[in-house]
Amino acid sequence: MLRELFPICRSITGDGVRQTLRRLAETTPLDIHEVPSGTQVFDWQVPDEWNIRDAYIADSGGRRIIDFRRSNLHVVSYSEPIDREMDFPELREHLHTLPAMPDAIPYRTRYYSRGWGFCLSQNQCDAMDPAERYRVVIDSTLAPGSLSYGERRLSGHDGDGGEYLISTYCCHPSLANDNLSGVVLWTLLLRALEGRRLRHSYRFIVIPETIGAITYLARNADACLGISGGYVLTCVAGPGPFAYKRSFTSLTGGQSMVDRAALLSLRERNLEFIDHPFDINGSDERQYSQPHWRIPVGSICKDKYYDYHEYHTSADNLDFVSAESLADTLEIYLSVIEKLELNCAYRSLMPYCEPMLGRRNMYPSTGGAMHQGAAAGSHTGLQAVRMRPELESILWTMQAADGSTDLMALAERTGFAVRQLAATAERLVEHGLLERIGGR
Ligand code: ZN
Repeated sequence: MLRELFPICRSITGDGVRQTLRRLAETTPLDIHEVPSGTQVFDWQVPDEWNIRDAYIADSGGRRIIDFRRSNLHVVSYSEPIDREMDFPELREHLHTLPAMPDAIPYRTRYYSRGWGFCLSQNQCDAMDPAERYRVVIDSTLAPGSLSYGERRLSGHDGDGGEYLISTYCCHPSLANDNLSGVVLWTLLLRALEGRRLRHSYRFIVIPETIGAITYLARNADACLGISGGYVLTCVAGPGPFAYKRSFTSLTGGQSMVDRAALLSLRERNLEFIDHPFDINGSDERQYSQPHWRIPVGSICKDKYYDYHEYHTSADNLDFVSAESLADTLEIYLSVIEKLELNCAYRSLMPYCEPMLGRRNMYPSTGGAMHQGAAAGSHTGLQAVRMRPELESILWTMQAADGSTDLMALAERTGFAVRQLAATAERLVEHGLLERIGGR
């Protein structure tokens, strides 16, 4: 899927986005929406639609020196059409290079100020002849059309369930980690969840960054006010370290459910990861956390944007990413969703003392053996090695069952996996020792 989608020239509008959405819809159904150019969305307007067929810079012999057909990064996204000859000094004003990475083509856009430009490697630029006269062609159109985005909502079955936003952006051309990896992960996550009976609802959206998020919020304003939290899927298949960018609640020392679920999932696997506080630089979490919405949105990344050299250059290609890394991140997101689904509080029906387990045939027969406890124990400061994990999970679950301490809080304190605590708690419910607060 990465290979199939990689060559498509995407931007914030245009046929590249539509083609991408149609391809995603082959893997799992989604609704594709079109919003006309000129539509007012809060402080912004949906821009004209941009489409490009060809572009090149040719020397006086007609040889294409820079060719859009070799890399769609060569043209600054949203470049106006042009077809004329010019001297090198005039052309040079429109050329973008990355001197620090002389082989790489940078990725540049100019969505909201008309003009044109080419991106090329520093080496390609150095090879051009300053005395030469060049023909510059960009066969593009910039005209009223529409902005396209995809959406699919999975409805939760329980009345008490929340709603979570799973957002990704599909406006980048041939760049792999940022953000084709996020787009593919989005589809795989949607496909993994769509057949399941879910407690919460999940609103999956695939949009062009910034203008798409703003457009979506404007068109779904009432519904978005009810969203409990979410994740932006971006940069998930690189070779480097995992990272977590926390939601805006981290600014005030708070921790949202989405942050807790993500951090627990990373820690449960004993993964080294870079822990980023919220920052106003980033992706669409910026829009979702504006004062009117205040949706806590985090991002689990593998080679997070800004943090790798190849970012926004032609070196962020299919060699940079791997299916294995993408699958690793998918597993973590699935573990995050599992936590959101399982998390709830329990109230003890024997709140006076520890229950007599032997009488109920619940006293574990495996006592005394050395067992590896949940790995996350090491970061909580508690012992990672538990002498009697089964018994301890029962005792912890009973001890915490005050009706407000939830399973994630207990996992954070004890290092037990949420999944194990949930299984223990359900056993205790069956034995009449606990009652669940809230449905599942
Ligand atoms: Zn980007």
